[in-house]
Amino acid sequence: MSPTEGFPAARGREVIEALVSTIDEHATELSEIDGAIGDGDHGVNMRKGFLLAREQLPDEVDLSNGLTILGEVLLTRIGGAMGPLYGSFFTEMGATCAHLERIDAPVFGAMLAAGRSVVEDLGEASVGDKTLLDALVPATVAYEASLASGATFSAALLAMAEAAERGKESTRELVARVGRASRLGERSRGVLDAGATSCWLLLRAMARVMTELSSGRAGG
Ligand code: ADP
Ligand code: MG
Repeated sequence: MSPTEGFPAARGREVIEALVSTIDEHATELSEIDGAIGDGDHGVNMRKGFLLAREQLPDEVDLSNGLTILGEVLLTRIGGAMGPLYGSFFTEMGATCAHLERIDAPVFGAMLAAGRSVVEDLGEASVGDKTLLDALVPATVAYEASLASGATFSAALLAMAEAAERGKESTRELVARVGRASRLGERSRGVLDAGATSCWLLLRAMARVMTELSSGRAGG
């Protein structure tokens, strides 16, 4: 891999801003998706948490501290299933890149793996249960496989985002086995899972902004 791949960890604010923007833009749609088989609060809660986190971000923040702030706001200020799950996801990702100067492909791989395992441990769900893990797990697998086959950071990020999208789409045919929607049994089939959809949006935003930062195209 090229030693010039990756981007300075000091560009954390741009990464967090990208995550906040995608949730802000898609909040209504996420709540509508949750409304079909849940209680319709997913987008509203996520937007509340992400906007609060943006208010707390210092002007200059490295990726580790930025992710930690986001994670802690989600853990302490948003309820539902997602506060603890996404809160821990971002907190773990942030802890994994603490004190590093540069975020490159292996570092991001370790961050993603740490985020995935905390969500699996806390939520006790598996692929096929119609949760955000249906997007997150294949995304992690695709990222790792892509890097292992010699792909660049940007190509691996793209593979991650594309796998997350396919995983999100796969939830349409699934019956929910955990969370609120599981009470509906067979009636939960036929619509997307809200958490898998937000997870895809977040991973896609992360892939886009990190690709821009790595190629030196982002402003600042
Ligand atoms: P709530 O269900 O409390 O209203 P949200 O609407 O914010 O919470 O989030 C619902 C999403 O949470 C679901 O679409 C699903 O993806 C995710 N989810 C629920 N339980 C779990 C779990 N145990 N593990 C992983 N994801 C889960
Ligand atoms: Mg809900």
